[in-house]
Amino acid sequence: MSLSTNYFSPDYSTARARFLRMAEAARGRLESLVLDAGGPTGEALTIDIAWFGSLQPHRVLLHSSGLHGVEAFAGSAIQLKFLDSLPEIPDDAAIVLIHTLNPYGMAWLRRVNEANVDLNRNFLGPGEDYSRAPDLYGKLDSFLNSTSLPSWDYFHLKTAWFRVRYGGDRLREAIAGGQYEYPRGLFFGGTKLQQGPEKYQNFIAQRLASVERIVAIDVHTGLGKYSEDTLLVDEKYYQAHRAIFGPRVEPLDRDLSSAYRVRGGIHSMFYRLFSEVELFFLSQEFGTYNPVSVLYALREENRWHHYGDGSVDHPTKHRLKDAFAPNDDSWRQRVLVRGRELLKQAVEVAFTASNQP
Ligand SMILES: [Zn+2]
Repeated sequence: MSLSTNYFSPDYSTARARFLRMAEAARGRLESLVLDAGGPTGEALTIDIAWFGSLQPHRVLLHSSGLHGVEAFAGSAIQLKFLDSLPEIPDDAAIVLIHTLNPYGMAWLRRVNEANVDLNRNFLGPGEDYSRAPDLYGKLDSFLNSTSLPSWDYFHLKTAWFRVRYGGDRLREAIAGGQYEYPRGLFFGGTKLQQGPEKYQNFIAQRLASVERIVAIDVHTGLGKYSEDTLLVDEKYYQAHRAIFGPRVEPLDRDLSSAYRVRGGIHSMFYRLFSEVELFFLSQEFGTYNPVSVLYALREENRWHHYGDGSVDHPTKHRLKDAFAPNDDSWRQRVLVRGRELLKQAVEVAFTASNQP
């Protein structure tokens, strides 16, 4: 058995049990945000939170996993490893670990939640409405969101043709930028703030009311070069964050033109809530396979969910899990090493005394 097996869990229930056990052993205060939805074997689905240090902290290191459900395996593993040897925490500070922001997606091997919502498109602010889709998404809808069981239907050939016709950048932007018109489609942002995000938003608004500085890391997988990580940040803070966290920092919307930005990202909620606070929000994104393979896996699983019986022991589910958490020890080791390195950096930034008077 390899070392990464101790941290990479085979399923949601195992990951959750390990997290609760290890957080308790490390003397964390535990709290669970319970969702109405259930898991494949009827198990409860919870966003579990382990809190270490001050209850009214001025400085906080916050680490979250699984906003995109099936992407949770990497973030969960990083958290379990971190729990093995937590750093010292100053008196006025706290470390807060958020285990699986989308437990439904991890349990059911979906990237979206119980209402088919991509939660990283769901955090719209006041005055933003849950409507619209890029025109090109509408044209691609019947291809992307085929209303039949998974089957061989020239996906790669059609994708190649669309790339020639529309260009790779425009295609990526239209597909992955998010949409609010096709509720059974990929990258659907929802029609309202979802239960998990709402409970989470309330939790941090109340419990982090005293903070002056937050370093937040939200772990994702599936985008970028295999086993390499990118630190995606809000474009406005790109230069400043790069100066602190180094050359892996990239602006969140680097692939998108200014015509269509991703809306409703979780970082936008943080910047709204903590506009007076020194905030560093980084999405640590680990690359897996090429975008066409990942899109194929998403599309086939989406067909199985909506037009099959959606059971988790199915080839489309196994493929999706592999697309976001490759069953490859070298990939997993790399995730653990880089997850740990970034946490070390984040601890320094979060807990080093500010120069401000
Ligand atoms: Zn993600």
